[in-house]
Amino acid sequence: MSDNSAVKPVKIKEYNWKDVNPLIVGMESLFDLVRLVDPQECREISVNNDNGMISYGNKCYSVWNADHRCSNCTSLLACRTLKKKDRLEFFDGNKYQIQSVPLIINLADGTRYSCNMEMINIAPVSDDPQNMGNDKDSIETAGYLSTHDTLTGVLNGDGFCQTARELMSFYPDENWLIISVDIQNFKLVNSLFGIEKGDEILVEAGAVFSELSGRKGCTGRFGGDRFAILIPYRADIEEILIEGIKKIKSLIDGATYRLTLHAGIYQVNTQDLAISIMFDRAHMALQTIRTNREKVIAWFDESMLQNALHEQEVISNFEDNLRSGQFVIYLQPQINLDNRIIGAECLVRWILPDGQMVPPYEFIGILEKSDLIASLDRYVWELAIEQLDSWKDSEFADLYLSINVSPLDFYHINIASTIIDLCDKYNVPYEKLHVEITETAVADETLDNNEIIEYMQNKGFTIEIDDFGKGSSSLSLLKDLRSDVLKIDMGFLRKTRNNERGTIILSSVIDMAKNLGMGVITEGVETKIQLDSLVNLGCTVFQGYYFSKPVPVKDFEKMVRDNKMADNKQKQI
Ligand code: C2E
Ligand code: MG
Ligand code: MG
Repeated sequence: MSDNSAVKPVKIKEYNWKDVNPLIVGMESLFDLVRLVDPQECREISVNNDNGMISYGNKCYSVWNADHRCSNCTSLLACRTLKKKDRLEFFDGNKYQIQSVPLIINLADGTRYSCNMEMINIAPVSDDPQNMGNDKDSIETAGYLSTHDTLTGVLNGDGFCQTARELMSFYPDENWLIISVDIQNFKLVNSLFGIEKGDEILVEAGAVFSELSGRKGCTGRFGGDRFAILIPYRADIEEILIEGIKKIKSLIDGATYRLTLHAGIYQVNTQDLAISIMFDRAHMALQTIRTNREKVIAWFDESMLQNALHEQEVISNFEDNLRSGQFVIYLQPQINLDNRIIGAECLVRWILPDGQMVPPYEFIGILEKSDLIASLDRYVWELAIEQLDSWKDSEFADLYLSINVSPLDFYHINIASTIIDLCDKYNVPYEKLHVEITETAVADETLDNNEIIEYMQNKGFTIEIDDFGKGSSSLSLLKDLRSDVLKIDMGFLRKTRNNERGTIILSSVIDMAKNLGMGVITEGVETKIQLDSLVNLGCTVFQGYYFSKPVPVKDFEKMVRDNKMADNKQKQI
């Protein structure tokens, strides 16, 4: 049972692998039996003192001489609910008082491994005759339903993990592949073609993958549209997978919608890993191509694991790092036609304790995948507003600051009231703040973002559409949205091969913005030639390395002073 790909950290007790065996020894004086189990695979496990990894032992139920799993296993319940469970089970003339506690073990290779510790007391049932036979939780036949998916007839998640482990133990010399397959946008299939068609596709997928996994392998459905396949290694695996996928795709032959499936493959190189961790790895590979229409299959490689571990680390240490002041703002000046600095964009920087600086693209995306981005943004907005507060009555009092809003913030917090409350807290006028919102946020019709934007405009904030032109809906969104400023990134022009066409587009966008009563800021200005041509096209505010990179606040203040001095000199001449 793994926690490897989980984005939300689970608040259950964590132990370093070295501490686990001493803990068990300590508990053994209090109970008849203390053991670690992986309830999903229904296996006893142990921490190997030599390599700090997990070894798999007997089936859990072998301890009560049973030949099948308990259908309402105490540990499975504890692991599903992430809570300690304390229950009485009866079997074979004995009464078992089972306490099961979920925990995470930090293994030697950095994997966070979720499992359960069971503490069991055993007594003959005759000790307590009134309980005999009338306990609902007594062990009963597991049955087909607990291991199979009723719709497709393939195994369910638990069934897959158990069967895959059994097959691997039965054929120890095979090289194994674990494959994760998932249908993109399956919800859309249901709403476009109906639930019956959706079911037909899932059933066909189950049949195709079962045929593919063959006699030595197995297939499972992990809920929804996620399938898992265990199959002995074969060189032509990609071809047969693509054949199978084609068969499933042929069920929808519409002109308006094309079924897209992706597969991630993990080649098993050690059996000392939980099946679900192996499946996570296959799925991790799949996620690298999820949005790619051309690439259907991706193989797991270790670098993906490093990325996942890195993401986990960024997420789990984020709140502490934020509190300890590791996130700061850098300012990048915005310049007008008179070459005067009129304001700046606040860009977050993560400064590690050793002084190393981490750029936003290395952590913003990770924080956006969890719900932490809103905490970061709120923090950065407050830094910006504090800065404006400290500039009151100073030589910097006429400057504005521009803050970034992630499209994901709209889901997590009330942006308008958060920013307004912060401005009120420091008594900073709303006009001093520019708010940069990306196109994607504005284009998302499921949210009432336009209303929020209009509300903020009416309060006096300047609203800017950041990175205009990078998204796909740029022009259509201007129809309904009244932003104050379009912020065009030169980067998107740099990527086009044809400069002349780029300039025509830029010129039209600037004209259009003006006709709609909007201002234009061009960012990413790197050369004098670019600046001159932007001035000719009618652009009036600029930002980019040609003037300055984003710099610490103190350096920015010095820049503003120098800029004013130069300006004064100019005037004197
Ligand atoms: P952005 O808001 O479009 O910010 C402009 C980015 O372009 C900045 O990168 C800036 O350093 C870079 N840049 C400025 N001038 C030039 C130039 O002349 N040439 C080139 N090649 N690049 C230039 P940075 O600081 O790495 O930020 C990247 C992105 O990260 C930002 O894009 C923004 O989307 C995001 N970001 C930064 N700070 C925050 C924040 O506090 N909150 C959120 N949600 N996102 C942020
Ligand atoms: Mg920006
Ligand atoms: Mg931008």
